[in-house]
Amino acid sequence: MEEIPKNHPRYDSLKIREKLSNAVINGITHHTGLIAHGRGEAFDYILGEKTNKYTYEAEKISAAALLLADDPVVSINGNVAALNPGDCINLSNEIPAKLEINLFHRSNERVNKIYVELKKNGADKIYGLKADANISFLDHNRGLCDKDGIFSSDVVLVPLEDGDRCQALRKMGKKVIAIDLNPLSRTAREADISIIDNVIRAIPNITYWVEKYRNFDRDALKEMVDNWNNNLMLKNICTYISKRLNSMF
Ligand code: ATP
Ligand code: MG
Repeated sequence: MEEIPKNHPRYDSLKIREKLSNAVINGITHHTGLIAHGRGEAFDYILGEKTNKYTYEAEKISAAALLLADDPVVSINGNVAALNPGDCINLSNEIPAKLEINLFHRSNERVNKIYVELKKNGADKIYGLKADANISFLDHNRGLCDKDGIFSSDVVLVPLEDGDRCQALRKMGKKVIAIDLNPLSRTAREADISIIDNVIRAIPNITYWVEKYRNFDRDALKEMVDNWNNNLMLKNICTYISKRLNSMF
């Protein structure tokens, strides 16, 4: 592949594209992951490629919810495995939470490749190698998960989740924290806490708050989580976007 010049104004974004494209070639990311990334990039462009104050708040609340959970899981798909596997492992260690490889287009070959990638990045125990349970309300392939992982969890962090699956996880009674750059997606509207941010920024931000809140009073954390109004946050972000766009020209 041709070298990207460091002084290119969109160097970071091009490097990320290159990372994902290589991950597709290496069998870690499904080719449709590139399309999902494209949609995400477009929203990131509109958001100014930085974390806004409403999202920052969502990241804080997510850290609180993950710390309060009895059995939290960080779900890993083909896109995050390519983008920032090390950050996800670090977050799961800090909470601590289980790591589960959970793919929309599941194949044993891809699961194994992601497993090797996570191990290379220092992961300890990884769930999802076996898919011996089903997320209720979904047909067999999309619903596959690990009985000791997502299936029995109480709080799940899902980066780039599909709307249907997000809804099904909620119907199972789980608290769902979704990372999705599109505030209009079904995922963002279905999740308990939606993080409208790039996973590249979101995972380190959540980790920062996990470290801050670790020894915080649990009742205070619980109050924060209970008072979270996800719909209001989505509304604020849409207002933020329209104001930003209106002031551009
Ligand atoms: P839904 O099913 O929830 O309505 P969708 O069908 O538009 O959403 P999917 O293809 O299921 O979307 O999932 C891709 C989602 O992931 C998109 O909404 C996109 O904004 C988001 N996304 C892509 N790349 C990133 C990223 N790097 N960080 C955060 N979100 C991302
Ligand atoms: Mg979808």
